[in-house]
Amino acid sequence: MSEHRIAMVGTPCEIMAASKLQYYTDSPIDVKLGLFCMENFSYKYFVNLLKEYDLKMDDIEKFQIEKGFVFLHLKTKETVKIPLSVAKRIIRKNCNICVELTSESSDISIGSIGSEDGWSTLIIRTEKGEEIVNGAIEQKYIEAKDFTDSQLGLLNKIAQTKISKNLETIERREFLARPVLYQREKSDDSIDKEFSEASFQDLRSNVIDVGACVLCGACEYACPHNLITIDDTKPRMKGECPEDCHACFAVCPRTFIPEDLRNDNSKPIGDFKKVLTVKSLKHTQGQDGSIVTTLIDYLLSNEIVTEALIVDKQDHLAWKPYAKLTNAIDEVVKSGGTKYSVCPVFKPLRDLKEDQVKNIDEGAK
Ligand SMILES: Cc1cc2nc3c(=O)[nH]c(=O)nc-3n(C[C@H](O)[C@H](O)[C@H](O)COP(=O)(O)OP(=O)(O)OC[C@H]3O[C@@H](n4cnc5c(N)ncnc54)[C@H](O)[C@@H]3O)c2cc1C
Ligand code: SF4
Ligand code: SF4
Ligand code: SF4
Repeated sequence: MSEHRIAMVGTPCEIMAASKLQYYTDSPIDVKLGLFCMENFSYKYFVNLLKEYDLKMDDIEKFQIEKGFVFLHLKTKETVKIPLSVAKRIIRKNCNICVELTSESSDISIGSIGSEDGWSTLIIRTEKGEEIVNGAIEQKYIEAKDFTDSQLGLLNKIAQTKISKNLETIERREFLARPVLYQREKSDDSIDKEFSEASFQDLRSNVIDVGACVLCGACEYACPHNLITIDDTKPRMKGECPEDCHACFAVCPRTFIPEDLRNDNSKPIGDFKKVLTVKSLKHTQGQDGSIVTTLIDYLLSNEIVTEALIVDKQDHLAWKPYAKLTNAIDEVVKSGGTKYSVCPVFKPLRDLKEDQVKNIDEGAK
């Protein structure tokens, strides 16, 4: 067992990668705080889009996506809005085949849909998640109100819209190209068999080259031979894979999903215990109710986790995300706010990994 107990924040695809890492490896990730996510953008294309509005990333204080627009709240206190119909062209290709809005394999999911301004919507999914939220309420880190039926109706409706729209895209893509593996419903036995025959070449042809890679970095982290590196565009492999290794293919969130982790597309927000609308009583500088920041503060302050895996923005490249492992609450507070582009979230775990990735050579438990 790892001496690290890490709380991680991520989008639904990243949380699925974390769930597969927990399933197939001795992962140090202990608590999964999943974000809602409708889409994400390419950083490079976002920079170019802003140029059309005579803006730079550095001019922006906060991004917000709401009611069909990307709102750019500028440091000058002005607001510029870009219709999502225009921003559509900078959405990452993999996001168009993503049929999950609310991080269904997390312990706790957090987003804004359904809640008032300054509040967050929080979905408790597991016993661990329930214990954390109850503790944070008891210790007055957060306040909570029940989510009404009409709020839940709205959340379900928006989640269903994403699922239906992107299932259609999947159907169109599969007609022209390869199957979208993570949507294939196979038994665990046949998944194990697929994994036992797969290597990085299969990851390349089924995920990376067909625009399905979410750039999470789970493959890079899990490679026992450190053959994979990820740049801003895709994972690359250098060297020769031993015949009996299949780790990268097994942990990728865009290959087959084992039965226990697979989402049921007929349940728009997945299985859950309770939905609440919540607000921080400790922090204010976050994206919505500052709930992610506050839950991590609670988890670190109570030593429930040893570190948090978060996504901050770079100092020298405005709004460019990078992943960071920290136990310092001021760094967690600084990383608040949503960065609308991707980075390989598992990168900081590579340093811890030597003793973590156990026998995944067979590709399955
Ligand atoms: C790409 C993206 C799309 C989203 N789309 C929606 C949506 O359609 N509907 C909705 O209701 N909510 C969406 N969210 C979630 C929403 O923007 C807030 O992150 C969420 O409500 C939590 O707010 P908060 O105030 O509690 O978080 P904060 O306290 O501000 O903390 C935010 C945390 O998010 C992490 N983070 C920031 N950017 C990223 C990133 N790119 N990747 C991984 N982690 C990151 C940081 O580590 C930080 O700890 C999206 C988030 C992302 C990253
Ligand atoms: S694939 Fe795109 S839309 Fe789906 S969860 Fe990941 S970033 Fe969000
Ligand atoms: S050694 Fe294993 S994990 Fe690494 S690239 Fe090859 S198949 Fe993938
Ligand atoms: S190929 Fe690697 S980086 Fe891309 S989605 Fe799969 S695990 Fe993540």
